[in-house]
Amino acid sequence: MSRYTGPVCRLCRRENLKLFLKGDRCYSDKCALDRRTYPPGQHGQRRRGKISDYGIQLREKQKVKRMYGLSEKQFRLTFKRADRQKGVTGTNLLVELERRLDNVVYRLGFVNSRAQGRHFVLHMHFTVNGKPVNIPSYKIKIGDVIEIREKSRNIQALKDAMDAVVRRGIPQWLDLDKDTMKGVVKSFPEREDLTMPIQEQLIVELYSK
Ligand code: SF4
Repeated sequence: MSRYTGPVCRLCRRENLKLFLKGDRCYSDKCALDRRTYPPGQHGQRRRGKISDYGIQLREKQKVKRMYGLSEKQFRLTFKRADRQKGVTGTNLLVELERRLDNVVYRLGFVNSRAQGRHFVLHMHFTVNGKPVNIPSYKIKIGDVIEIREKSRNIQALKDAMDAVVRRGIPQWLDLDKDTMKGVVKSFPEREDLTMPIQEQLIVELYSK
């Protein structure tokens, strides 16, 4: 199995960054990173030597891969697609990741985390342009309308997520009508819309070796 299914707070502690993998908990004082700021594992509290350039690039790639919940193979394929496109490869990579349906339902506030988004997409709780889609990696396009399916609108987890979204806000490239539980893709995100501390150039350097 290629997808990581272990404790996700370890991943944040490894990257020393909140990756927001656990929904509500990430915003509470129960966040593991706030409690233990050292890396996980038996040697987590050891003093560490200087990290090599390769190590820095690797950590950046791992960070972004984990943030979006992808396996190495999926991430590399996404990178290859980004590399074939016109423009800046690093930015293309981030846009490709943002266009995934499991990310978009998270950004719209239908779910509390990308992992939850993946789960609910697999269980066909969302439609894209009126059609149910169960592919988490489905790439949304400009003008796409994403909705919570009629029969799924009473699921408590979805309702809770919609109540909690005010904390994160909806990115400007998406439009949400909370009453009809409908989101529209106004545009693709620009680099400045993506505010997580990511140095995508390091990933490009890593994969260009
Ligand atoms: Fe990361 Fe959330 Fe766990 Fe905090 S609670 S360590 S942000 S997954």
